[in-house]
Amino acid sequence: MLFNTKLLHGKSTQGFESGQTLPSISQVSAFRYESMDDLEKVFDHKKMGYAYTRIGNPTLGAFEQRISELEGGVGAISCSSGMAAISSAILAVCESGDEIIAGSGLYGGTIALLHDLEKLGIHTVYADELTGDTVRNLINERTRMVFAELISNPSLKVIPVAEVAEAAHEASVPLFVDSTTATPYIAGPLKLGADVVIHSTSKYLNGGGNSIGGIIVDGGKFKWDFIKHTALAEYRKYGPMAFSVRLRTDIWENLGGCMAPANAFLSYIGTDTLGIRMERICENADRLAKALDEIPGIEVNYLTLPQHPYHRFVDSQLSGSEAS
Ligand SMILES: *Cc1c(COP(=O)(O)O)cnc(C)c1O
Repeated sequence: MLFNTKLLHGKSTQGFESGQTLPSISQVSAFRYESMDDLEKVFDHKKMGYAYTRIGNPTLGAFEQRISELEGGVGAISCSSGMAAISSAILAVCESGDEIIAGSGLYGGTIALLHDLEKLGIHTVYADELTGDTVRNLINERTRMVFAELISNPSLKVIPVAEVAEAAHEASVPLFVDSTTATPYIAGPLKLGADVVIHSTSKYLNGGGNSIGGIIVDGGKFKWDFIKHTALAEYRKYGPMAFSVRLRTDIWENLGGCMAPANAFLSYIGTDTLGIRMERICENADRLAKALDEIPGIEVNYLTLPQHPYHRFVDSQLSGSEAS
């Protein structure tokens, strides 16, 4: 199935109760069980099921499965906002004394968060240009994560995902990519070698401007080094799923940044039109950029202009997740 078909007929659109074509909005805080024993098992993650919306809800599950399918991940976790997703993902991996290598062109909110994390002892070093070489130069024994935006908002810097991932992996460090601006329609970071993909779903994924949200998709392939990544050591028995389990049953659940069920439903139906919206958005922006570029005295920053410093990535990395 290609992108738009997958959105309408993919695995994540099947299997709803009573043959319904969309998920119901499970607008509840808690779920009933026949016995206390059953409820306790679900709460303790010993039995599949839902107990309390902060730790799991079927509408969130439907949205998570859909984005995970689009990104080609092994699972996803939806959050109350993009910032909740980024902070939960980082805190699942980094502890006091750890370091993050970050791309320089980051969203303002993310820079502010990384500044806040300094007070918790998590230090960030910024690379002016994130490449395989800059990662190799900045990596040290305290580095626990490389974090970058695939296309940075708003500066439009692009990272060479495969090369950065390779350099990080040489040192047993995962690459976390914020792909909000690219969306799964433009690029597939997991297929290019990234380990975890994060989106603010408030933007193109929702598309209708009706709810704030975020999501974290785990590629499930990274080989965690449990001596280095002590935050995940307790989850060693889950192997490549250690990050997902640590996130879901620990940090995400405890920070309390779950997505609201109604927002999960709105984001789910918004995503139906992601493919055709992105096509039109890119076409409009390309025409506008080229028209403005004709006017003397105006400097235009847009990736499809041939003189743009990151123009080479348009074909190699940004021509659609189907191609990558
Ligand atoms: C908007 C945005 C965020 C933050 O998301 P919210 O949903 O506003 O919390 C993070 N990263 C990028 C690239 C964004 O554009």
